Amino acid sequence: MKRILFIFLILLAAAAPATAAVNVVTTLPWIGSLAREIGGRGVSVTVLVKSHQDPHYVEAKPSMILAARSADIIMYNGLDLEIGYLPLILESSRNPKIMPGKPGNFDCSRFVTVTERPVAVDRSLGDVHPLGNPHYYFSPANVLRVAEGMAGRFTEIDGANAGRYRENLRKFVEQMKEKRKSWASLPLKGKKFVSYHKLFEYLAVEYGFGIVGYLEPKPGIPPSAAYVKGLLETVKREAPDGILATLHYGRKESEAFGMRSGLKVIILPSDVGSMPATDTWFDFMDKTLSALR
Ligand SMILES: [Zn+2]
Repeated sequence: MKRILFIFLILLAAAAPATAAVNVVTTLPWIGSLAREIGGRGVSVTVLVKSHQDPHYVEAKPSMILAARSADIIMYNGLDLEIGYLPLILESSRNPKIMPGKPGNFDCSRFVTVTERPVAVDRSLGDVHPLGNPHYYFSPANVLRVAEGMAGRFTEIDGANAGRYRENLRKFVEQMKEKRKSWASLPLKGKKFVSYHKLFEYLAVEYGFGIVGYLEPKPGIPPSAAYVKGLLETVKREAPDGILATLHYGRKESEAFGMRSGLKVIILPSDVGSMPATDTWFDFMDKTLSALR
């Protein structure tokens, strides 16, 4: 038995690829999902943040630093969404490959068109979107550009597998085209919603629905009683179709407001993997958009 096991292990070692996969570390699950699609067999992906975590308030952990230490590339959302933990992870990892300005440092937001860019940045007011709305991963147009950027960067750091990355991108673009066609046929134009957090602005713009009010007066600031009263007036005036919230933040407040306003609460995934049947970015978008119908 031992001998068979030994032979099996030798065969396994022989079957392993000659070159090690590119070691990718991502902050958020959606970036990990995209890296798997574009990197395919050429990459191994470690995702630092769990899909049930509020991405605005993540704390650096030793396991994250350890993962970053052996990374060939770190990929992150950007727009200061990771400001509370990523700089610490980069510094503590002492990994020169992933420092800002190096090919192993990939800021996804560099490829997107950002909305709600403030004229002046002022975090002291508690706003957790200091550089504009960071939730562009609900936008097919933006995610497509991030995917193209990823393929380019994988090629730059692993030129030997350029053909593989090009082919994976081609498949992704093809699937995106098909999905966008079916998403565009959903009857969302003209719908109105109230939202807990400023999470769905990109989605609203691309699919023609409106967000008439927010439970948070500012991203990251919980509503006061006086503010909720004002929002109830907005609901009376606008008659929206529901309240948009996610499982992991804003749910309780949204349900309480639902009771007061008579609006139904629509629970949407906050990221890839945060609800059943959201294992890839495409599944995540399917789930999100079909819940809005
Ligand atoms: Zn946010």
